[in-house]
Amino acid sequence: MANFNMSLKKNEMPMQDPVLRGKNFDEVALGYTKEQAYSEALRCLNCKNPVCVKGCPVNIDIPGFITEIKNGNLNGAYAIISKTSSLPAICGRVCPQETQCEQKCVRGIKGEPVAIGRLERYVADNASVEISTLPEKNGHKVAVVGSGPSGLTYAGDLIKLGYDVTVFEAFHLEGGVLTYGIPEFRLPKRIVKSEVEKLERLGVKFERNTVVGKTVLIKELFEDGYEAVFVGSGAGLPNFMNIPGEALKGVYSANEFLTRSNLMKAYKDGSATPIMKGGKVVVVGGGNVAMDAARTALRLGAEKVTIVYRRSMNELPARKEEVENAIEEGIEFNLLTNPVEIIGYVNPSDPRDTKNGFVKQIKCVKMELSDPDENGRRRPVVIKGSEFTMDANVVIMAIGTSPNPLIKQTTKGLEVNRWGGIIVNDNGKTSLDGVYAGGDAVTGASTVISAMGAGKIAAKATHEYIQSKN
Ligand code: FAD
Ligand code: SF4
Repeated sequence: MANFNMSLKKNEMPMQDPVLRGKNFDEVALGYTKEQAYSEALRCLNCKNPVCVKGCPVNIDIPGFITEIKNGNLNGAYAIISKTSSLPAICGRVCPQETQCEQKCVRGIKGEPVAIGRLERYVADNASVEISTLPEKNGHKVAVVGSGPSGLTYAGDLIKLGYDVTVFEAFHLEGGVLTYGIPEFRLPKRIVKSEVEKLERLGVKFERNTVVGKTVLIKELFEDGYEAVFVGSGAGLPNFMNIPGEALKGVYSANEFLTRSNLMKAYKDGSATPIMKGGKVVVVGGGNVAMDAARTALRLGAEKVTIVYRRSMNELPARKEEVENAIEEGIEFNLLTNPVEIIGYVNPSDPRDTKNGFVKQIKCVKMELSDPDENGRRRPVVIKGSEFTMDANVVIMAIGTSPNPLIKQTTKGLEVNRWGGIIVNDNGKTSLDGVYAGGDAVTGASTVISAMGAGKIAAKATHEYIQSKN
């Protein structure tokens, strides 16, 4: 009989102590040891019909790679994952496995599912494989707008097919949200850097500080000889609630707050990047972005951090692990609560008082969830007369983002939907010939793995398009 581990529980992930980690930016989850990974791999039943694979947006051969861990062949496991996923060290850390592969895993019927994400991370961190031989250059040039996971995946797939690939990135560093959004303590930047360097070694060129739509237009890229352009420009435009007080000093969008900390290194002692540290911080929203902003504020030295979310704990869209980590670190949750106004400090007798114009409080109402509507959704409804105020020095809005309209505004004929998402067909093709798009620029804020999946689909379609033309 095969040797399986029938424990109902996943092997625990070693973690940094919650008290210590609330004061540093080092990675929180430390990764499985060899023994833990082997023991967890033995929990996989190597199912004939592996339903977990259907839950993975890029259909990684999950039992296949786990079998290689059992065999002690980490390079073999890495090769299997790499067939469909180009950024395993990243996905193993940030994918919402509990709603994808692990949600489907049969071991989850009675007990906990196999810790597929932790095993993926273990393989990516410990294998040592690199592609050394590439096909001959095929003489065709393609351009990529944005170096987030969709753009990096697209670039990686096409360089391996012999294309000349250039990625145009608005920022001075590559990685998109992986670099400027997700904090160091969840995704160390050395991992993103190493993925970008791998692509550079394969021949991908990166043009940093280049805003497509300003520095260069898509039309001009075609004039420069690029035969196709992939738009992976993400959804970096923050939404606000449009309530009074959002222009006060101390109110940030989560994007701005995290960019200042992650990309512009405001968290480092002696950094010249200004960011408000300390005091009482209120973060509005319940997704991954809200958790990241709250945990970053804590590490920057906040006295108290409160998440304000209009639904209940059951509806929090953030990854479960991140919510648990936030609670362990001491982040407070004010649920079924919605802000209606941000109140500023005013000293009428002294207009030069330096506190004038800064946030002082946030006014909120309590909510209750309605009966389910026809779609089964319970809407939050305001409880009359429930207004109350909370003290706050910093308010961070993490209520979603939309695609930036720049590319649409500067690219004639590019169709977008009413949310500003670029319209594509099933192959990632836009309304313009030779122009493909994918990731958050199409779907609005989504996930790393879905952005990668979109990059893959568009790369395949681009290859077919260019080959059919020639
Ligand atoms: P992005 O990652 O947004 O990259 C777009 C890139 O395009 C950026 O580098 C941008 O600078 C560049 N760009 C934009 N416009 C131009 C232009 N005109 N010219 C040149 N370059 C341009 N997902 C998960 O799966 N798990 C998580 O735990 C998770 N946590 C998150 C935490 C935060 C704080 C945020 C903000 C998002 C999180 N997400 C998470 C979502 C995930 O990161 C995104 O869905 C994913 O990064 C989208 O990838 P993308 O390639 O479409 O775009
Ligand atoms: Fe292994 Fe679970 Fe997938 Fe079955 S469903 S192959 S047990 S990971």
